[in-house]
Amino acid sequence: MTESEVLQIFRENSALLEGHFILSSGLHSDRYIQCALVLQYPSIAEQLGSELAAKLQHLGASVVAAPALGGVIVAHEVARALGVRALFTERQMGAMSLRRGFSLSPDEPALVVEDVITTGGSTRETIACVRQGGGNVVGVGALIDRSGGAANLAVLKASLVRLAVQNFDPADCPLCRSGIPAVKPGSRTPPAE
Ligand SMILES: [Zn+2]
Repeated sequence: MTESEVLQIFRENSALLEGHFILSSGLHSDRYIQCALVLQYPSIAEQLGSELAAKLQHLGASVVAAPALGGVIVAHEVARALGVRALFTERQMGAMSLRRGFSLSPDEPALVVEDVITTGGSTRETIACVRQGGGNVVGVGALIDRSGGAANLAVLKASLVRLAVQNFDPADCPLCRSGIPAVKPGSRTPPAE
């Protein structure tokens, strides 16, 4: 699949919106990505997972890990394509950890995957969890890398799409200045006219 084919799937499912958005961080942005709207269809999730797996297969991982919740389905589908197991990390009292009895063998080659890499923060936390668990992180994958190269992770990175997304401080947002109404995605409240 090409980047534009993947983006087409996102657009068709309203998972990639273009306009003027208020993100949960409070920042304004010209694009909004909601992977869950694509991943709600198991056949599409399977297809995207298999595409991402193909880019990471040569690394020889025997386990795939992802941060919950966003990465869980991606890890599951990448692991399905590779014929390996899928684990997830989750936050407990603010700190990401491997729970539920998940474990890795000493030096086990592992992939860390995400739905979207924005700053790379949760990816780094998941890498740290896998290493703490004794695993060896051999690669990182994401359906969409919107970090603009900012997420420097020091491991091989693969994504289906690299997207340039601009975020703005609401006090200095060119979209606000141009008078385009800002929308809060997922909100039931219609945007102000
Ligand atoms: Zn704005």
